[in-house]
Formats: sequence, C-alpha cells, structure tokens
Amino acid sequence: MKLILFGPPGAGKGTQAEFLSQTFSIPSISTGAIIRNAIREKTPMGIAAEKYIDEGQLVPDEVVIEIVKERISEDDCKNGYILDGFPRTLNQAVALKNMGEKIDHVIDLEVSDEDLIKRLSGRRECKSCGAPYHIKYNPPKVDGVCDKCGGTLISREDDDPETVRKRLVVYHKQTEPLKEFYKKEGLLRIVKGQEELADTKKEVLKALEVGK
Ligand code: ADP
Ligand code: ZN
Repeated sequence: MKLILFGPPGAGKGTQAEFLSQTFSIPSISTGAIIRNAIREKTPMGIAAEKYIDEGQLVPDEVVIEIVKERISEDDCKNGYILDGFPRTLNQAVALKNMGEKIDHVIDLEVSDEDLIKRLSGRRECKSCGAPYHIKYNPPKVDGVCDKCGGTLISREDDDPETVRKRLVVYHKQTEPLKEFYKKEGLLRIVKGQEELADTKKEVLKALEVGK
C-alpha cells in the first residue's frame, strides 16, 4: 500500500504516519525529518536547506524530489510506504507520478488555522531520534524525555509563532492546491483532525476502508 499523508503543518501527519507504519508494516517517510537530520549532521544538503526551513519556506523541489526518489527505491519500500509531507507542490506531485509510483490513497488531514497555531506551540520533538510528541495530545511517559530512546524533547525552531504563520501562508498558497490534483485522480480521502489522537486514528482507518 502506498499512501500520502497530506495536510497543513501541525495537523498531526507525523503521528498518524507512525501509527499507519506500525499498523501496515510499511515505512513512513518524512521529508521534513530527513531534512532536519541532514541539518543536524551538517551534510551539504542540510546546510543548503537550513535557511529555507528557518524562514518557514519550502526547500526547493529538486532537492526534495531527489530525497524521495532515492528513499523509495530502497528495499524496505517494496511493499509500500507512507509519505509524510511530500508532495507539497504541484511540481513534486507530478514528479512522483512520473517516477511511475501508483499511489493508493491520499489522506487529507484537515485542521483549522486557529487550531494549528494552538497545537504547534505544544509540539515537541526528540532531539536524538526525531520522534514527535505533544505536551497535551501525545505526551511522553516522562516529562521532556523520549519514550523510544531516552533523548531530550525540544521545541522545533520553526514552530515559533511567527514562522508558523509564514508556514501556513506557504501551505495555503503552494500545497493546498494539490487537493484538487488528487481529487481529480480519485485518491483524496478527507479526514477531519479530532481533538483526541485515538479518534483521528479511527477516522483515518475508516477513510482507508472507504477508499478501497
Ligand atoms: P510540518 O508538516 O509541521 O510543516 P515537516 O517536518 O513536514 O513539518 O516540514 C518542515 C519543513 O521542512 C517545511 O516547512 C519545509 O521547509 C521542509 N519540507 C519538508 N517537506 C518538504 C517538501 N516536500 N517540499 C519542500 N519543503 C519541505
Ligand atoms: Zn528519541
């Protein structure tokens, strides 16, 4: 099964992607996480991408398309994968199609801007492994400590309110039009993000049934 998780920043794509990855035993691929890793490791790609992320802008299409192309050609993707945060522009969607990838479902997680701004302020991320948390909706077992690896939980720099507002503008302008693209392809499954994580999971599974 090949899935795309689509939606604005902070809609909970990463958390749902991880849940689906465990449920279907297919890898979840987050372009944002791959880029942030590259930044931490100071690779040439990371160094080039950093200024875009810091400003809440999208990293250039060529860069992310190359990342995804390489990643999905790896062995663990042969039974499918979940794309979290890709595609984010029409160019990227067309590039994915031209790679010959047949996507089964595009799950569109819908959350209002107002709720997103509230949510992003509570978002935390493991400094070591990148696992996502939320102080209210998805708290770690021990305050400030990653359940998976014991790493320290931090706020992402691009989650500060000013950068969040910029990212939402970018989302509405560059990414949201993709909904129309996938609607035309008959792949769009709309899921309203719920207050409770478990409820959103249920809705996502329901949407996948409907789309079969
Ligand atoms: P969120 O979904 O909360 O915005 P991500 O981790 O998906 O978080 O993305 C963080 C940042 O990484 C984006 O603001 C953007 O700069 C960059 N990025 C991630 N995926 C893409 C993509 N497909 N195209 C361009 N930039 C991307
Ligand atoms: Zn961790």
